[in-house]
Formats: sequence, C-alpha cells, structure tokens
Amino acid sequence: MRNILLLCLLLCTMQVMAQEKTNVKNGEFWGKSEAYLHKQAFQMFGLIDEALTENPPVVGAPMVRKLALYNLDAMLHETKYDDTEPFYNFVDSRIQKLLAELDKPVKKSLKIFKVYNDGFIARTQSTTIAFDVVRGVIQGKEIIHEEFIKQIVEHCDILFLTHNHGDHADRLVANLFIEAGKPVIAPTNIWPDDENIQHLRSDEVIEQEIVLNNGKKLQVKILPGHQSDMMNNIYVVTTEDKKTIVQTGDQYNKEDMNWLVNIHQEIPRPDALLVNCWTHRMNDLVEGFASKCVITGHENEMGHTIDHREAFWLTFQKMEEIKRDYIVMGWGEWFLCK
Ligand SMILES: [Zn+2]
Ligand SMILES: [Zn+2]
Repeated sequence: MRNILLLCLLLCTMQVMAQEKTNVKNGEFWGKSEAYLHKQAFQMFGLIDEALTENPPVVGAPMVRKLALYNLDAMLHETKYDDTEPFYNFVDSRIQKLLAELDKPVKKSLKIFKVYNDGFIARTQSTTIAFDVVRGVIQGKEIIHEEFIKQIVEHCDILFLTHNHGDHADRLVANLFIEAGKPVIAPTNIWPDDENIQHLRSDEVIEQEIVLNNGKKLQVKILPGHQSDMMNNIYVVTTEDKKTIVQTGDQYNKEDMNWLVNIHQEIPRPDALLVNCWTHRMNDLVEGFASKCVITGHENEMGHTIDHREAFWLTFQKMEEIKRDYIVMGWGEWFLCK
C-alpha cells in the first residue's frame, strides 16, 4: 500500500514537472520581445512541419497546405530566423523524413522528392536520379548537413547539373558522386577542367544513352536552354521503366521560348516536369512540354535576399492559372506520379 502511494506521488510530481516545462508562465516574455519571437519560431516551424507531414503533397491547392506553405513563406522571409535553431531544426526534420522515405523501394511508378531549392530526386523501380542537389548556404553556413547529403547520394545513381550557379552546382555533392564512381553530367562551364565530369552541351539537342553502374540505361535529351545568357541544360531523362522526367533548371530566356513552346514534338511525353517557379512565361512553357504533371522548384532559396527568395504564395498565384495538374512541394516532401 505504501509503495503504491509512493508511486502515485512520484507520478504526480513528474506530471507537474512536465507541465512546468511546456507551459508558459504569466509574464515570462514580458519585456523580452526577442525571446518571445524565438519561442514563437519554434512553435511555427514545428506546426508547419507537422501540417505538411499530415497533409502530404497532392494535385492543386488544398487550404491546409496553402496555410502551411504561406506561413513558411512568412517565416523564411523574416531574416531574423535565418541562422537560428528553430530554422535548422525544421530543415533537419524535413530531410530526415525524406531519407526515411528514400529507404523504401518504388514499384511501377515515379516518385519525385524535393530536397531543397531546385534539388530534386526522381525515383523509379530501376533508377534513382538526382538533379541540382545542393547543401544550400545561409549566412555562410550549410543548410543541409553533410551527413544527410552523404546518405542522399548513397541512394542515387547519377547527378545532373543544369547550370553554373552555386544554388544548383555544389562541389561537395559532385565529389561524393564522383568518389562513388557515379556519373555527373553538366554543361561545359561547370568545373570545365574536371575530367571526372561528363560535360554535355551543344546549340542543338543532344541525344545520349547513359549506362549506370547497375547496368541500367537512361535515354537523355539535353535541350540548349539559358538563364539569361548563361547556358542552362534542360534535361529530358527517360528511364528503363519508360518514365520521363524533365528538369528545367533556371530556365529564363525570351528567345528560347520560340522553340520551347513546341518542344513536345521532339521529346517523349514527360511524366513530370520540374520547373523553376519564376521561369519566363510559365503557362506557355508548361504547355510546350505537355507534361502529365508539373512540380515547381526554387521557392525560398535562402541564399537570396528576400525579394528573390520566391514565396509559395507567388507560385500558387502562377500555377492556379495553368491548365495542367500541378503540385507544390516543400523541402523534404515527395509525390507519387500516377
Ligand atoms: Zn537558381
Ligand atoms: Zn541560376
């Protein structure tokens, strides 16, 4: 009897202690605005993470996801949170979820993962392809831990780099692929003297078969796109499972639109078009590829000032105008293309 009483007392004490830990006392933040905002950031990032997990990507714009992603815009466009514990906790949590999902095989379909910025992974039963995967930089610090990046690279068979900007081409990521003996494909101006990189670029469309370490083959078309004057390879990649993925990189060029609007005549029909959210003439470009679905990238690139971080609410405004199925994804999310 005495033991039971003691146990009850212990449990009650533990409960009170737990409550004291989580409950905010009256006046705790009075006169401490910065401490308040710091605590609020934990709450906001935590809730956004939870909302995205419970409401995974779907076609269109359901209210709960819009709320979560617009709130994320608000947090990521306030630079006071740029280099803080709540921000890094959020990124870690998102990437850990992605890694857990990458451990699962994909059967008879195409799964698209968004890592960070314009970094995507496309996975079928036969192949796992990385596009523009980077650690990301904020105030000189890496956003995604090197340890997480290593695990991502282990899951991938090949890396495609679209163009020579640091938010797309990360030397450390490329080296990890090269060290593992996996192909890295890039235009001629990315580390031009590195013979370990397969430099592919022409003013004409390049058609190339790439054999992977596991013996699987990819049929690749490389379109001569541009970000302003800079060469920007647009990759059209078809796997042995007959899934076709297009990654546009940072395509943004008025003249290229003359041929991009009819590009569907020259390529297999894409299952997924991965497009930078601020591309030139979004709707015309999307129609040009005639893809089964469209997934936007490049929202909230943290290396940019807030005017060019590109918000999800801007993406939704653009995508709500297009006629095809679109999916808007946060970091560390994935979508199964039917
Ligand atoms: Zn970029
Ligand atoms: Zn760029």
